[in-house]
Amino acid sequence: MSTSIDTRCVQGGYRPGNGEPRQIPIVQSTTFKYDTGEHMGRLFDLEAGGYFYTRLQNPTNDAVAAKIAELEGGTAAMLTSSGQAATFFSVFNICEAGGHVVASSALYGGTYNLLAHTMAKMGIACTFVAPDCTAEELDEAFRPNTACVFGETIANPALTVLDIERFAHAAHAHGVPLIVDNTFPTPVMCRPIEWGADIVTHSTTKYMDGHGAAVGGAIVDSGNFDWMAHADRFPGLTTPDESYHGIVYAEKFGRGGAFITKATSQLMRDFGSIQSPQNAFLLNLGLESLHVRMRQHCASGLALARFLSTHPKVAWVRYPGLFGDPSYELAQKYLPDGTCGVVSFGIAGGRAAAERFMAGLGIAAIETHVADARTCCLHPASSTHRQMSDSELVAAGVAPNMVRFSCGLEGTDDLIADAAQALARA
Ligand SMILES: *Cc1c(COP(=O)(O)O)cnc(C)c1O
Repeated sequence: MSTSIDTRCVQGGYRPGNGEPRQIPIVQSTTFKYDTGEHMGRLFDLEAGGYFYTRLQNPTNDAVAAKIAELEGGTAAMLTSSGQAATFFSVFNICEAGGHVVASSALYGGTYNLLAHTMAKMGIACTFVAPDCTAEELDEAFRPNTACVFGETIANPALTVLDIERFAHAAHAHGVPLIVDNTFPTPVMCRPIEWGADIVTHSTTKYMDGHGAAVGGAIVDSGNFDWMAHADRFPGLTTPDESYHGIVYAEKFGRGGAFITKATSQLMRDFGSIQSPQNAFLLNLGLESLHVRMRQHCASGLALARFLSTHPKVAWVRYPGLFGDPSYELAQKYLPDGTCGVVSFGIAGGRAAAERFMAGLGIAAIETHVADARTCCLHPASSTHRQMSDSELVAAGVAPNMVRFSCGLEGTDDLIADAAQALARA
């Protein structure tokens, strides 16, 4: 039975049988018992499905991952200990030393560092392109060794919207998949697979958990990318894995299962980074209300953006749902029901005025976090980027007067009133 996104948020992934727990049980066990060594051997050979060690798989995690796969419209999913781990695994699963990635330059800072610096040390190069680059610029970014394209549906903190169809067409024309980080919209507001994305990643730490309670990540496979049709580019999926007696993932698990099975049985085995079952349980509590919460986050974000856009003490506003925003048209296409609760804006009067604005806030708390139930606010120039001069900030793409405001679930009017009184003091 096909159901709405609302019903999938509440009931997806876990369907208890007669007399079984209604809520997903927390399987707080590192190991699983078997009657014969032979049975266990079949698990280790990937010949039989089942659990043997929680570093690779755990029933609680699998139920929650299955819900996220249903929400995104994918065939398989896995949870990771953080969004960073999800990003790393999604790329490293198909791109090894000597490989190359094309990425949108509008990225989360941690993702930028991973692709530009840490993966470079592992021999993986990355070419960054502006999300609004020309077709020629995008085409020229590819190399013979390119393995994937990476972008964020709504970039954190730039708040630009990725033209998913355009990037998917370019990736597919070059025989590689598109990976999209869908953290900010969540599948309630956008499902990138419906627009051609092949792999979707999440920092579940943000809206999915939604309560600032548990760090986590997720990877979803659409099951659409044909690895065998591009076998020479993806030897890890299309040639024998000697660490599992020579199985070929793309043959044995097919399009729908190869990517996640390889990421679980190789990368999780070797790097760890599993999400704890406790955190997966908390994540699921968040998912059960995700559809309800996202509508409120988006409504407050839009209302605040509209209020700020006409305020004399506000120099500029970026919010993809705001008419006239550079990403407005793309948001109308990909996110017609709402974008997210994060608004960024510049305070007239520069860095010092922005600091006075922050000091004047009552409801909004100063935090580096975004996207949870309690409204939070960040002025990068006086916190995460405080060592930089104004000119260095501009070069880094962070305006000295820029404030990032993450609307929580408090009353919309209260949030606007809080911003209004803090602006009066700025
Ligand atoms: C926070 C964030 C990440 C990293 O996730 P963690 O859970 O903090 O590791 C990745 N992508 C985006 C868009 C984010 O906002």
